[in-house]
Amino acid sequence: MKIPFRVLLCALVAFSSGCATQQPVKPPSAATTASSPAPLLLISIDAYRYDYIDRGLSPTLAMLAKNGVQAASMQPSFPSLTFPNHYTIVTGLYPDHHGIVNNTMFDSVLGKFSISNREAVSDGRWWAEGTPIWETADAHGLRTATMFWPGAEADIRGHHPDEWKPYDGKVTPDQRVDQVLAWLDEPAAQRPTFLTLYFDAVDHAGHKYGPDTPQVNEALRETDEAMTRLVLGLKQRGLFDRINLIVLADHGMASTPLPNSVLIDRLIPIDQVQTASMGILAGFNPKDGSAKAMSDFAAIEHQLEQPQPHMQCWDKTRVPARLHYGSNPRVPQLSCLANVGWRVTTTDFLESHKGDVSIGEHGYDNADPLMQALFVAHGPAFRTGAKVGAFPNVDVYPLMAHLLDLPPAANDGDYDAVKDMLKPAVR
Ligand SMILES: [Zn+2]
Repeated sequence: MKIPFRVLLCALVAFSSGCATQQPVKPPSAATTASSPAPLLLISIDAYRYDYIDRGLSPTLAMLAKNGVQAASMQPSFPSLTFPNHYTIVTGLYPDHHGIVNNTMFDSVLGKFSISNREAVSDGRWWAEGTPIWETADAHGLRTATMFWPGAEADIRGHHPDEWKPYDGKVTPDQRVDQVLAWLDEPAAQRPTFLTLYFDAVDHAGHKYGPDTPQVNEALRETDEAMTRLVLGLKQRGLFDRINLIVLADHGMASTPLPNSVLIDRLIPIDQVQTASMGILAGFNPKDGSAKAMSDFAAIEHQLEQPQPHMQCWDKTRVPARLHYGSNPRVPQLSCLANVGWRVTTTDFLESHKGDVSIGEHGYDNADPLMQALFVAHGPAFRTGAKVGAFPNVDVYPLMAHLLDLPPAANDGDYDAVKDMLKPAVR
């Protein structure tokens, strides 16, 4: 553990009585010091598309936007999937650079990763190419607490957030809010300065029923009720005007009717490749290192890189530069990206998952309008009633580092691109 600046200062000015009593086993929260940053609560509403707020079903969110900052939209990083983007938001790195390149992936040493594999999700080696903001916060004496966040379950170089919960979808939105409020009620020495909160009902309804449905609208209402509970709880504690809130989403959602399925097994001999992922972004590798497998793969790749209906395939060296994807060893040799509204799947999968195939999806080209995400911010650091333009989600990390007065780790974001949403005095 690095020595926090404040402790170091005490060592230098040992005659100061204020320092003499300090026993910094775990450094006290900087939130307790006069010059400390305001607490920052980062809230993700999974798959809350940028335009959902206009449905009139999120009054509390709309109130935060009206009294704070609202971006026209926020662009996810590619691929527009949950785990890659949540880790981008807390590291400022493109998925290609932080290593969580898909929700499902292979690593030559670590084997297979999937978001439902608790062992993989909690293995810090998958996450170690990025430095999550809670790690930097910890090194600078700030306490952190995550009410669910991808990566927070992993021990990354010996670091978890100080408080964290293993993901459990059965924890209700109200319970999640109450946990965050309980953390804010802790004595000053334990109270976190950086916190996260995660809601997933909007994503689930979007997948199951599609984005333009009463079920998604109901999930929007329910989630906003949890936001109302949060705001009331903050007001009761006198914190509402003293905490910085960032409310965002990882990506949007598109309608994907069942017939819009590219059946990859009808295009290629699927048993001649190793399938790394299926769905919106399918990925394939040679089956093994043998000359036969390599030549089979080269033929399949040559075929699929020709123009295809409803999808586009690239060798990892030929992915368009704007997607920032392909340099990481975990990116499969061949990626096939479905056109918006389509999926890449197999005859077998559709047969065996009858009635259980998502008809709402994301993961598409991150420039597509339907993939754009919500961004709203509110609090003492943010301007009031400010509308800002669209920006990429890699910029959230340097913004948060600035708000927490932390030196940002190397990242792909640009603080200058987002600093205008802050009040001039705190830029
Ligand atoms: Zn999703």
